[in-house]
Amino acid sequence: MLENLLFPEINETPDDIISKYPRRNSDLVVTRMAPSPTWFLHIGAVYSTLLDTVVAKKNNWIVFLRIEDTDQKREIEWAAEKFVDIFKVFWLNFDEGPVWENYKDVGNYWPYTQSKREYIYKVFIKDLVARGLAYPCFLTEEEISETRAIQEASKVPTGIYKEYSPWRYASSDDVKKALSENKEFVIRLKSTWELTKKIDVKDIVKWIVSTQENFLDIVICKKTGIPTYHFAHLIDDYLMWTTHVIRSDEWFASLPLHLELFNMMWWKAPQYAHYGPLVKIDWEGKRKLSKRKDLEADVEFYFREWYMVEAIIDFLSNMINAWFEDWRKQNPNESYLDYDFKLEKVNTAGALVDIDKLNWVSSNTIKNTSSEILYEKLIKYLEKYDLEFFKIVKSFPDIYNLKIVSELKTKIRKFSEYKENTFFLYDESKIPSRELLVNQKMKIDDLETAKKWLILALDLLEKRNKTDFISVEEVKNSFVLAINKAQMKNGQVLWPVRCALSWEEFSPWALELIYILWVEKSIFRLKNVLNFL
Ligand code: GLU
Repeated sequence: MLENLLFPEINETPDDIISKYPRRNSDLVVTRMAPSPTWFLHIGAVYSTLLDTVVAKKNNWIVFLRIEDTDQKREIEWAAEKFVDIFKVFWLNFDEGPVWENYKDVGNYWPYTQSKREYIYKVFIKDLVARGLAYPCFLTEEEISETRAIQEASKVPTGIYKEYSPWRYASSDDVKKALSENKEFVIRLKSTWELTKKIDVKDIVKWIVSTQENFLDIVICKKTGIPTYHFAHLIDDYLMWTTHVIRSDEWFASLPLHLELFNMMWWKAPQYAHYGPLVKIDWEGKRKLSKRKDLEADVEFYFREWYMVEAIIDFLSNMINAWFEDWRKQNPNESYLDYDFKLEKVNTAGALVDIDKLNWVSSNTIKNTSSEILYEKLIKYLEKYDLEFFKIVKSFPDIYNLKIVSELKTKIRKFSEYKENTFFLYDESKIPSRELLVNQKMKIDDLETAKKWLILALDLLEKRNKTDFISVEEVKNSFVLAINKAQMKNGQVLWPVRCALSWEEFSPWALELIYILWVEKSIFRLKNVLNFL
């Protein structure tokens, strides 16, 4: 009994295990997000989780999180925990998985982390060996390379299969001998399918695709005794009663293998939906977003640039279903979850990560958010990413900051632009250069002319006896009246005023500045400049 020699510690049968995982209600639709902690903070993980959850939540499906950590060589410490934290930032909630406090499991199908399920997988591997559908393979790396060289020379597909797999046909005496010599081995699937045959694969996103059967004796259990992803995920999807597997296109090529495995187990395979990868367009053309090359592959990029979470979600929602954008125009204040996301309409060719588009989406999100909420969020971002500026902003009255936020919200695309656009509003110490005040295009030919218009503005403001304007509109009315009286053009008079108030070449226009700065501060700044001229 080869299986007992290989797995002496396993005493349970597949049925024993299956009975511990109660069937779910037959009308439940169950999907899962199954990240591998071999990288973290990739925007693709947020995209696919968003896709899983919007489709699932929309339809009242169950969505669970499973950590697929069978690739221990590439595993990054804390990546799994980081996933959970990031998903929480995006309000992506799972019904089950390691999502409770301290990453404890919630749900009846635990453990939801593959490294804690090794025993379970071995029960099924042992059963496959007993049924003659899997076998130990003692090939060394060198022998595998030699096989590959022979295959390449004779122009046949490479890999371990049929006549290229000596251990597939080994006698039990040979196996026993190798075991007694303590030779390292893996367990391979004994594929019964044919290289030359095709199968029609059904996929919700890709429809029906005719593809080649699996013919490779792939490794299902590594030398370390840890099962491979291909095997482990399949056992889990069955035991956790997954009905829909929604995952990236890169797994589509492995689908025939997964289907063969389901077949061998006499289990019904779930429905599949393989969506296109995240892509970007640059001088190389269209290509997959790369973890190594592209800053925007990293979720931190979006936080560092201070995009609001709502904007990132809208951006990703657009990538999931292109019609989302039209819906958003009609429903600027609704939750994205109210949109009718359709799995069948998910992007197959590749969803484009286009930062110009994100900026556009984000400027709309900012515009459509109330100033009070924006201010609240802005303060949190500043506290986290720019403590120094946060302290400066907080040293000014909230009402002052709020005025700035409401004036600026139609002009910025992300919170990082807040600082660039408003720094001068929090600093009293500077004055504009003379070169800036003189501007031929604005018909300010010399400092004398600039001075004249600064005095006009100063007079007007001083006459108000410290009474602030209640709106930009009111500032505008007063100034337009005074400028008309002086028989001048608005632009001409307001150029030096704007420069004196902001000492910047680009800033909000003068009248908004007077409204934001209040009369007293505006007078102070104008006088400051006049003293220096
Ligand atoms: N662990 C796999 C990944 O990170 C999941 C593939 C699947 O969903 O089956 O891509």
